[in-house]
Amino acid sequence: MAIFNPYESERTRVPAGDVRERDPGLPWCSECDTDEFLMYEDFVPARRPAGGGHLVAASVNYSCSVCGRFNGHEVPDSWNPPNWFWYS
Ligand SMILES: [Zn+2]
Repeated sequence: MAIFNPYESERTRVPAGDVRERDPGLPWCSECDTDEFLMYEDFVPARRPAGGGHLVAASVNYSCSVCGRFNGHEVPDSWNPPNWFWYS
């Protein structure tokens, strides 16, 4: 008689740390597990220092309108905040 062990099958189906559905460098609220409610407060695109040298990575500061969690970090150069526009 075959014994079905749901724990074993679950463990082999989803290897720990191997699930990557989004870029970890992108803004995210780990509290709400979504980026849906983020409010972007400051965004600095990738730029080159005045004196030359290495490109400084783009960075963003944001907070979550639901839980209030604040976060800020570097983001990929290709990323822009959704609906972002430059004040002129
Ligand atoms: Zn949140």
